[in-house]
Amino acid sequence: MILILDTDLTEESPTFQALLQHLRGLEGIEHRVHRVQGAEQTLREIYLIGNTKALRIEDMEALPGVARAIRVSREYRVLGRHAGDERPTGFDYRGVHFGQDNLNVFAGLCAVDTREHVEAMMRALKDNGQVCTRMGAYKPRTSPYAFQGHGAACLPYVFELAGKYGIQVIAMEILHEAHMDEIRKALEQTGQPTGVMLQIGTRNTQNFELLKAVGRQRDFPVLLKRGFGITLEESLNAAEYLASEGNDRVVFGLRGMKTNLGDPHRNFVDFAQVPVVKRLTRMPVCIDPSHSVGSRDVGPDGIPEVFQVTAQGVIAGANMILVDFHPDPATALVDGPQALRLEELPWFLEDVRLAREAYEERRLLAEAQHFARS
Ligand code: PEP
Ligand code: MN
Repeated sequence: MILILDTDLTEESPTFQALLQHLRGLEGIEHRVHRVQGAEQTLREIYLIGNTKALRIEDMEALPGVARAIRVSREYRVLGRHAGDERPTGFDYRGVHFGQDNLNVFAGLCAVDTREHVEAMMRALKDNGQVCTRMGAYKPRTSPYAFQGHGAACLPYVFELAGKYGIQVIAMEILHEAHMDEIRKALEQTGQPTGVMLQIGTRNTQNFELLKAVGRQRDFPVLLKRGFGITLEESLNAAEYLASEGNDRVVFGLRGMKTNLGDPHRNFVDFAQVPVVKRLTRMPVCIDPSHSVGSRDVGPDGIPEVFQVTAQGVIAGANMILVDFHPDPATALVDGPQALRLEELPWFLEDVRLAREAYEERRLLAEAQHFARS
């Protein structure tokens, strides 16, 4: 059960303390206080764990300081959608809204290679009105002999260039807890010119100690990629690990499944599950068409397959797109074959706009149907 507290109630207030005292007296019930950082205020929620069946919603709502009580289903206590649940879907970070109701594009380098390429990418983003990007500094590679990313060494210039071109949020994968400190330090050194969304890659979706560490910090929101060889339910539980530790600013990323049945795509595209994740949870949903398709192949109709699957995700209501671009894909150190060229960015964005417009129209059509029937 979740108790949503009155908006003005702080931990120090006597009402709050009296409430905790009361909860301590409930047998077989543990509680955990959770802070929800909104744009203007911090809301407090209390999660009750244990034998909550015995508690009546009306009794809990009658307690001083409690605005509302929600009975949650077993799964995804924090991030899930539950009956009567009006908690927000999403969050704001560095002036950018991440919700189930909007769409942000993160076009950028799979891996940072040279300062010149980072600058060319950032400039192209600014020229096209973009404020988010992806930049890989720490790369999980299949072979230990492959380029592992420039790591901490590239962070200062990546962050400075982001600031120079007005980029507010960089999605950046981390492989280890220590990488968070390196990012924090580089942001401090450069004067916080930009923000970072920590990315947990598909190979680490069930690295529970990493999830707990990332969940304990509140500085950075998180993009959690679905594990490419596990069920959706297992991946959603991985996201819940982050939230259960305190960080519920989580975006869930679909990036294709590892199976030869998806050939010749690099991974079997799973964007049909965009609406499923939105139905089961309150997380914004990201799609990664680049790591799904894995090539720049173009269909006989002239539309690249990366564009095709992007449109499929967007027309189904996706909220974020993570997509590889590179100024010179032939020289990219990681994933060059799937990177789109900078000249293709305006085309890509226009194609995305068309798909999003179609989604909005479909949503209106659905609304009209429900209205007509009610
Ligand atoms: C990436 O986005 O660069 C990446 C490695 O993705 P994934 O973890 O989905 O393979
Ligand atoms: Mn990649």
